[in-house]
Amino acid sequence: MGGDGLVSEAIEGLEPYKPGKPIEEVERELGVKAALKLASNENVWGPSPRALEAAQTALATLWLYPDAASHALRTALAEHHGVQRDNIVVGNGSNELIGMLVRCFVRPGQTVASSAGSFIAYAIAARSHGHRMIEAPLGRDAGYDLDALVDAVDETTRVIFIANPNNPTGTLIGGAALSRFLARLDAKVGGGPAGPPIVVLDEAYVDFVDRGDAPDGLAVWRARPRTVLLRTFSKAYGLAGLRVGYAICGAEVAGYLNRVRDPFNLNAVGQAAARAALADRGWLAEVVRQTIASRQALGAALEGLGLTVVPSQTNFVLVDVGQDAVAVNDRLMRRGVIARPVGGAGLDGHLRVTVGRPEDNRRFIEALTSVLGLGSDRQGIASEER
Ligand SMILES: *Cc1c(COP(=O)(O)O)cnc(C)c1O
Repeated sequence: MGGDGLVSEAIEGLEPYKPGKPIEEVERELGVKAALKLASNENVWGPSPRALEAAQTALATLWLYPDAASHALRTALAEHHGVQRDNIVVGNGSNELIGMLVRCFVRPGQTVASSAGSFIAYAIAARSHGHRMIEAPLGRDAGYDLDALVDAVDETTRVIFIANPNNPTGTLIGGAALSRFLARLDAKVGGGPAGPPIVVLDEAYVDFVDRGDAPDGLAVWRARPRTVLLRTFSKAYGLAGLRVGYAICGAEVAGYLNRVRDPFNLNAVGQAAARAALADRGWLAEVVRQTIASRQALGAALEGLGLTVVPSQTNFVLVDVGQDAVAVNDRLMRRGVIARPVGGAGLDGHLRVTVGRPEDNRRFIEALTSVLGLGSDRQGIASEER
């Protein structure tokens, strides 16, 4: 296929991003009803009712282009985080910002870095722009190996992506480890003519963190201006379908990002819904509380089946099913439950499953128990929660 020079070798070698299977597709292809999707870390509790109301209201003026500067949303975000409006850049999902960061700050011949076993969008962004992607090996605890990452980068490395907490492993880098990494990084490659590289802390799951030693991303950014924080309304705020993400960064970095930002990249409904969702602190707190409780129950149930679970700081859990995870997921889908097989980077045989409501978890555990041929006497969650 290809090879006729229509596209670069880099693009020829890419594979399209494979999303979790949509519910309708699984139902149609496998003839199952009421499939349960736990494949894409969506928030099963959904968004604030106030966000839905704001979205409805925004429909009335859909013939107008949206506010190209997302002024009201950026003002609200700036107030919320205690930063200036000029420190906020919005994206059509944080995925768009990942691409913009590469487009802006990496030149031909330069490189992008992250870890293996992390968010696939980083490598897609790097390679589709023709840049080499440096991937440090994943640590033995399934978290980032930050020493290996420092070792792997060089003076060509201009953007480093760190998902914290990480997807698909759910692991968190603590504040002390992150500080040590940044000091080592800047000592190694920060002295070049272009200055230190941009370090992107992708905090898509930050709301679900309950560990006391988590880094304060804003403080990290204030101390090191070439840090960019990525946030999203797709996870804890439950608005994945509307595509709203944002970066918090220095005004200089923001100015460059805005130069490459597509006009009207954030749609009007998304702007309105995100603003209302941000204001509903009670809804967010309740979703987070329920997610963390449900995460603990799900982890305990999986361990009750004798499986090894990676400790999670997110709204999903990575579990070692000890066999071909693609096959396990296929069999789960025939029982109407969609999870996500993970492979490579030492994660073969692992399944990533989104934390659901207690009844969703129960359905997943029952399906997994039967798929793995484990005894029904060991259905941890049934005894856990009843
Ligand atoms: C889900 C996720 C995002 C969010 O992407 P959006 O484009 O904002 O929906 C970003 N980073 C990571 C690591 C994620 O898992």
